[in-house]
Amino acid sequence: MSLTGNNAQGITTKAAYILTDSRQVSFPEQSIFFAIKGVRHDGHQFVPELYESGVREFVVEEASFSEALRTLTSQWDDAQIWVVPSAIRALQKLVSEKRRQFDIPVVGIAGSNGKTIVKEWLVQLTAPGKRVVASPKSYNSQIGVPLSVWNLSKEHNLGIFEAGISQAHEMEHLQPVMQPSIGIFTNIGPAHDDGFRSRKQKITEKLRLFTKVRKLIYRKDYKDIDEEVSLILRPVNPFLEVISWGSGHSGASIQVVYDLQKDKTFIDFKGKFGEHTFETSFRDDASLENLTHCIVFLLDFGLSHSTIQERIFHLKPVSMRLELKEGINHCYIIDDAYNNDVQGLSMALNFLGQQEQRQKKTVILSDVLQTGQTPAELYGLVAKLLKEKAIDEVIGIGPEISSQAGLFELPNQHFFPDTDTFLSDFPFNTLSDSLVLVKGARPFSFEKIVHRLQQKAHGTVLEINLDALAHNLNYYRSKVGSGTKIMAMVKAFAYGSGSSEVASLLQYHRVDYLGVAYADEGVALRQYGINLPCMVMNATVPAFDLLIQYKLEPEIYSRRILLDWINYIKKINDPSEIPSVHLKLDTGMHRLGFVKDDYEWLIGQLQSHPAVKVASIFSHLVGADEGVHNEFSKHQYQQFEEGAALLEDALGYKTIKHILNSAGIVRFPDYKLDMVRLGIGLYGVEATGQEQRALQSVGTLKTIISQIKYLSSGETVGYSRKGHIEHDSAIATLAIGYADGYDRGLGNGTGQVLVNGTLCPTIGNICMDMTMIDVTSARAEEGDEVIVFGKEVPITELAKSINTIPYELLTGIGDRVKRVFYKE
Ligand SMILES: *Cc1c(COP(=O)(O)O)cnc(C)c1O
Repeated sequence: MSLTGNNAQGITTKAAYILTDSRQVSFPEQSIFFAIKGVRHDGHQFVPELYESGVREFVVEEASFSEALRTLTSQWDDAQIWVVPSAIRALQKLVSEKRRQFDIPVVGIAGSNGKTIVKEWLVQLTAPGKRVVASPKSYNSQIGVPLSVWNLSKEHNLGIFEAGISQAHEMEHLQPVMQPSIGIFTNIGPAHDDGFRSRKQKITEKLRLFTKVRKLIYRKDYKDIDEEVSLILRPVNPFLEVISWGSGHSGASIQVVYDLQKDKTFIDFKGKFGEHTFETSFRDDASLENLTHCIVFLLDFGLSHSTIQERIFHLKPVSMRLELKEGINHCYIIDDAYNNDVQGLSMALNFLGQQEQRQKKTVILSDVLQTGQTPAELYGLVAKLLKEKAIDEVIGIGPEISSQAGLFELPNQHFFPDTDTFLSDFPFNTLSDSLVLVKGARPFSFEKIVHRLQQKAHGTVLEINLDALAHNLNYYRSKVGSGTKIMAMVKAFAYGSGSSEVASLLQYHRVDYLGVAYADEGVALRQYGINLPCMVMNATVPAFDLLIQYKLEPEIYSRRILLDWINYIKKINDPSEIPSVHLKLDTGMHRLGFVKDDYEWLIGQLQSHPAVKVASIFSHLVGADEGVHNEFSKHQYQQFEEGAALLEDALGYKTIKHILNSAGIVRFPDYKLDMVRLGIGLYGVEATGQEQRALQSVGTLKTIISQIKYLSSGETVGYSRKGHIEHDSAIATLAIGYADGYDRGLGNGTGQVLVNGTLCPTIGNICMDMTMIDVTSARAEEGDEVIVFGKEVPITELAKSINTIPYELLTGIGDRVKRVFYKE
């Protein structure tokens, strides 16, 4: 091993790929790993497994380079280790050195909103003549920017990158990495971010990206931006050419007027680049602002009026959405709408790799967008990627990929010249029990393939936002810190959200434990390839066989169940097959658990049966969500501490101790102990209500309008004539009823749903499969989508209106409601 200290000149690597996340490794021998210690993860933990997988170059941080790791790595003769004070700074420095070797125009984009759209559109708008390198998705962080810029190669002649910051002093590290020559400042939001003292400071910090640009494009209607450019940027960048645009009275160098028609908009430009009018189908403020930034850039870039107009007509809305849903023949479909270039494909393959629902992996892939490589180079790389990711089957669609068919070496491969031929000729019955990634460039209309493969929904779907789920997990993680484990509760079909998909995500994000109510729920997880330790709260004697077979750990809560367990495990010869157990103490809930009077007996049993291994001791607070019970919660905690200490003493070894649920984590941070049990918070509901704003909404229940009727005063709607029409009204029937989980209590105006932005009340009684609403004041057509709950219609409000709690609504959503999982 060669070890290089922090006084070395820097990192010289031959690696083609940079790794900061051990789970995303594709070409280990050609990768350098930066071990980053964050609040939630410590990359150093994964150094050994990465070495095993073939990585040979590592950058580690002094403070986290433990004695054990030092000893281990010193035995690796073929590895190179750099020890640095900060891996992120070392990464940034390495990439900034690479960046310096390229003398091409680089566009740097900063601002509160629209960065990713402006970037993606600029790529679409410039790509026909340019070989562009750009940030993938919204890779704009301290790590995302260097990872993006690292992709620069000699084929490229234009770079387009975005930079986002959440605190002061971050941008000064991104400027040298990106070294933009042209800047675009998209806009500034009114929100006051936690990381900044004021809006002014936020602008000033963002402007640091532009200290060396030659040109800066911004909208002069944002007075604050304009002021800070003059006050702060000009003095440090005196040769800066400012290209400002704005409304007629803004004094901008380009005056812009939007002329909104019924189905299109004309954008008039006057000033610096002469007079121009462009036409677009976009009509909303945000899209028009984003597009104007792009047009100003293109005018300055020297493109002709007709070229710009032509390209605007072909501009596609940006979709970064990736959906996971059930398909035909027991398949799972991953439908990824993001760019079909090598990077987009590689990210989609990583997501595919995280899914555990099916063993077999199929990729349906169109021709891949290329930037400057020959088809042989490009598809050689694609073929290598598919092989590295252990894909079983590839279906290539398009003339180019078909012409390179010889490069692919998978067990199963088929090629088709176009989408329609595939749809008519492919034997779909052969595609079964597989995870299928569908990834096509837009002209190939792969939505037709998704439509063919997906199970038909009856109109009501529960969409689960996987990014929001991860966000919520990380929020609670940052609250409890890395010293406390997390058991994620996925009982009751993961609170109605879909156990296997949610558990896959939790496994990927490395939670420590899962918790389910019944053995069957644990078995289902194991069958989906989830191998995290898993506690079963209500295991009964008939289910003990399953516990052994599937390595599930029972909760032991009473004398009877303990004796049953002791009796049962006597029959097992190999002690390593016996799962550990979790002792539940009843400190006041009076549901399940040992009470004080049991302790002596319990200790006797545990001491005389050491085959009963105790993984953890826990209890449950009865009123963590309500301040009025604080005294009682304190009392419960004290009871628990005493009981657990007594039991641990008697056992003679340490166990994991835990008492907090989601609400407890917020209200009683001092009681976090060794582990917390996170439930409803994961799914976006902050049960105390104090920190709801920090969580993201996870589930959106959507349905559609099946029919609209126009009724006159005096008529009635629904069963028992409960809905009275008082004025002439438009009444819509929705494809959702109480059998889907839309509670009957929400009828007769108690519940409201969102129709094209307008809240509409229910009218009449809720039926089993249908609900009627009053859409008189809304824009509504048959077939329109309706939001039952979600970000705009909080489930907490809905629950309150019928005197229940979000838990009940979530877990009551019917089986026939399809779950669709997505990430951006
Ligand atoms: C369900 C459950 C939790 C999680 O509770 P939330 O309020 O959803 O966070 C924790 N502990 C036990 C024992 C549970 O049954």
